[in-house]
Amino acid sequence: MIAKEILKNLITKKISVKEITDKYLENIKTKNSILNAFITVFDEDFINKQVERAQEMINKGNLTPVVGLPVAIKDNINLKGYPTTCASKILSNYISPYNATVVEKLIYNGAIIVGKTNLDEFAMGSSNENSYYGVVKNPLNLEWVSGGSSGGSAVAVSADMVPLALGSDTGGSIRLPAAFTGIYGLKPTYGMVSRFGLVAYASSLDQIGPMAKDPQDLALIMQVIAGYDPKDSTSYKDINVDFVNEDFEPNFELQSLKGLKIGIPFKIINDQGVDKTIKDATNKLINSLAKECEIIEIEFPYLSYSIPCYYIIASSEASSNLARYDGIRYGLRIEEFNNEPIEDTRTLMKITRGQGFGLEVKRRIMIGTFCLSSGYYDAYYKKAQQVRTLIKKDFEKIFNQVDLIIMPTSPTLPFKIGEKINDPIKMYLSDIYTVSVNLSGLPSLNIPIKYNDFYIGVQLIGNYFKDKFLLNIANLINTYIN
Ligand code: GLN
Repeated sequence: MIAKEILKNLITKKISVKEITDKYLENIKTKNSILNAFITVFDEDFINKQVERAQEMINKGNLTPVVGLPVAIKDNINLKGYPTTCASKILSNYISPYNATVVEKLIYNGAIIVGKTNLDEFAMGSSNENSYYGVVKNPLNLEWVSGGSSGGSAVAVSADMVPLALGSDTGGSIRLPAAFTGIYGLKPTYGMVSRFGLVAYASSLDQIGPMAKDPQDLALIMQVIAGYDPKDSTSYKDINVDFVNEDFEPNFELQSLKGLKIGIPFKIINDQGVDKTIKDATNKLINSLAKECEIIEIEFPYLSYSIPCYYIIASSEASSNLARYDGIRYGLRIEEFNNEPIEDTRTLMKITRGQGFGLEVKRRIMIGTFCLSSGYYDAYYKKAQQVRTLIKKDFEKIFNQVDLIIMPTSPTLPFKIGEKINDPIKMYLSDIYTVSVNLSGLPSLNIPIKYNDFYIGVQLIGNYFKDKFLLNIANLINTYIN
């Protein structure tokens, strides 16, 4: 059942919050040992308290778009009193002293937060193989990666362990795992959802967003988590949050796809690097859309620069953001080395960081530190910022012509666990179609397209604050084409 139907059943009292929560907890119990989607499943006490409160809200007619709905959150989002590990050894003993704004809002609205999901360490990765807590497996095929970095959230939804989950997307981390597991995942417009309480990876790119099995479900949770937050200085003041109406029906304005102008980068889709199945499925979708919409060919002249540009900016910001994990202020502290107590602070920091961070995180810190260092700053970081502006302008030009863009989310199908882990460049190339959206701050939604008993991820990209419009289009595609 999708979240929207569960909500209806809860409100009409066909089912109780406890029944629905128990059903999902049962699924977690049977599936998580195989899939490894959760790092923490909350204790009965905490879950029961949420269940009781949600049922009371329903009984009193105090209804919200997420009341009584089980939700999982990525383990880089803080929830007071419980661990936020970021799938890193360095935060393995860290307990959050406060709630992220999105968590605060979910709790206030009576959602049932059941646990925290696995991810690539500090959200750095595209396959969820970089987790201190182990690989997340893909429920569509256990030999495949789930995609990353929000692999745990994607798998939790895909395998029916929760109807709704939150992930974070810095360079595709919601959309790529959504594509690999056959679900919907929205990377909202930058500034639409508060980042307060999300552990920073690359602050100018990070964005929290929802994952679900239906675009209407994304509208429900967006209604709750979107909006201005004075605690996040990059959140927008004048956001009109009207994803659903008072009856929790999506406020979708468009009833048909007729007349829509869709930009398609045909050169990208038909590039030889793109898997044939993805090519065929995307072209099939475009052909069906062409019956009602105007298809306009678009180009991204700077696409080939997007990966180096993204990895320079993301790693530079990461090297600065991760400086705080020093063995003194947060989390892990290694106090002994070779059975001898460590006497000076410098060595303590060095050994703690050396043992606390995984390989990929260390690689990013080193790349970032190099790119920001004197003598190289202008050649790398500053250049990357200039390219970022060009990419942004590219999109601005395109959106003068079209209502939305459709292109694949990833050039490949889900790959096998272990296949790319020793080749960082190959791994980074998985992000080629997702990162320019983050560099520009635009909203983008992965939609699963069924093709030969298989799910292909296609992303819809919209202009700033067109998040609801993207959900609207996805819903029309879901109803009429899929
Ligand atoms: N794969 C990208 C990276 O490793 C994206 C990660 C993300 O969006 N959090 O940086």
